[in-house]
Amino acid sequence: MKHMETAAIRRQIDRSQYLEHSTPLYLTSSFVFEDAEDMRASFSEEKERNIYSRFTNPNNTEFVEKMCALEGAESGYAFATGMSAVFSTLAALLNSGDHIVSCRSVFGSTHTLFTKFLPKWSINTTYFKVNETATLESLIQPNTKVLYAETPTNPAVAILDLALLGRIAKKHNLILIIDNCFATPYLQQPITFGADLVIHSATKLIDGQGRVLGGVTVGRADLIREIYLFSRNSGPALSPFNAWVLSKSLETLAVRVEQHCDSADKVAHFLSGNSKVAHVAYPFLPTHPQCAIAKKQMKRGGNIVAFELKGGLEAGRNFLNRLQLCSLSANLGDTRTIVTHPASTTHHKLSKEERWEVGITDGLIRISVGLEHIEDIIQDIKQALNNL
Ligand SMILES: *Cc1c(COP(=O)(O)O)cnc(C)c1O
Repeated sequence: MKHMETAAIRRQIDRSQYLEHSTPLYLTSSFVFEDAEDMRASFSEEKERNIYSRFTNPNNTEFVEKMCALEGAESGYAFATGMSAVFSTLAALLNSGDHIVSCRSVFGSTHTLFTKFLPKWSINTTYFKVNETATLESLIQPNTKVLYAETPTNPAVAILDLALLGRIAKKHNLILIIDNCFATPYLQQPITFGADLVIHSATKLIDGQGRVLGGVTVGRADLIREIYLFSRNSGPALSPFNAWVLSKSLETLAVRVEQHCDSADKVAHFLSGNSKVAHVAYPFLPTHPQCAIAKKQMKRGGNIVAFELKGGLEAGRNFLNRLQLCSLSANLGDTRTIVTHPASTTHHKLSKEERWEVGITDGLIRISVGLEHIEDIIQDIKQALNNL
């Protein structure tokens, strides 16, 4: 199949005896064996087949195969959440004493894993900042095994150069892991730039409708094999119901993301011309410091727009309180436009200095632009700004 839109719709597990057109939901914890020999061969992995839904399930297989087709990956495994994908991937591949080099601008729970939990097993992380990629090679130690990053970053939508990360990983024989959640494979395929593994929180734009949690890791077959063996024993598997929902969601990913990008682009341009706004960050705005890199590696700018209110912390809180249509919620990549003020909410526990390190200034607002009519989205933002 040539185009990812087609693969996302047509890649399907075998039909059952009923010849259903749309894939049914296989809500079953286990599968039956024909006889003792069948059971023996299945457990010894001489036969590739479903045994137990903690290992594989037809709905999970379909979702994973579609994700592999979209990301250009050899193999994959689906998880209950994005965080279980992140944790299980690292836990499967790293040994005590191994070292991670990561961009500091990573998802909050990933940061907590890196700084609080992985050190319990003597796995330590050294951070580089978004604007420090020129010196990142100096952070690599003899025991460094993983290079980890997200791009665009959350919540400041900074862009990291994937080709550069790919070259560094290759030169130093590191496993390059990219959390591709903000871009989706429709906009950016990190494997083409040298990533070994790509992780998604499927909770976000992959579902795209705010219904289910899910995660997935795809990439090199030899690494996925380790991740699969770890996961089939430790048990973070995605539920078949959620896999069914997510596989259906992928059928509309391209059209949804196109519309998200159309609207986000309009929101970014609207904000750029507003007198209460100090600064707007959107990857495809010419004023974005990494716009050229974004255009090299992304098809379009994505659905997240970040902007800085001139009034700082107080203006940020007031802006949130004045919104009438947009939701205040912890999710992103939903059909509903969602607005957050990281300094007073998700990142309020960090010191001001720590927030600055990841680009979170006091008046920073993050908008996950949804699929409501663009005029209604802009009208709501406009009236909230006017009332500040
Ligand atoms: C939400 C998110 C995660 C975690 O995913 P969950 O499904 O909430 O566990 C990881 N990385 C990024 C970039 C995210 O936005």
